[in-house]
Amino acid sequence: MAITRYNQHPDTFLTMTANRNWPEITSALLPHQKTIDRPDLIARVFELKRKCLMKEIETNKVFDKIRICAQVDKLVCAELPDPKNDPTFFETVKCCMVHGPCGARNPQAPCMENGRCTKKYPRAFAESTTMDQDGYQIYRRRNSGQVYTVRGQEVDNRDMVPYNAYLSKRFNCT
Ligand SMILES: [Zn+2]
Repeated sequence: MAITRYNQHPDTFLTMTANRNWPEITSALLPHQKTIDRPDLIARVFELKRKCLMKEIETNKVFDKIRICAQVDKLVCAELPDPKNDPTFFETVKCCMVHGPCGARNPQAPCMENGRCTKKYPRAFAESTTMDQDGYQIYRRRNSGQVYTVRGQEVDNRDMVPYNAYLSKRFNCT
């Protein structure tokens, strides 16, 4: 087991535990050997895995992505707010931040071109915010089961244009 600090923040430690079933270990055992007989092998394989993990963290910026996505969730929302929490805010968002509706619900919408929405709505549901390979945000759009009627069509979180909740509330607009 090793504890590795993966960035400068003191709270960010990561624990990795050796797995005796790693194929690099089991395949190197002689017929009569058990994993426990080969601490040298375990240590060597573990060190290889640890280096791979560190490379993954440093090269692919795995944790940076998670951190950035968490920050994005604080700043940008692509979901309808709960009407019970703040009915006025809900109305503002419902009124201003729903795209279209377009697609099959409204083929004549101005965003439609060759039967497709040029803005790529409705988007797919997403349990959490992620980042694609190019660093482009894919916003959280949970499938809450809530459907609302906007401009005569049923809409849900797939139709939401991302907004900043603080500014929208502060200025009662989006
Ligand atoms: Zn559209």
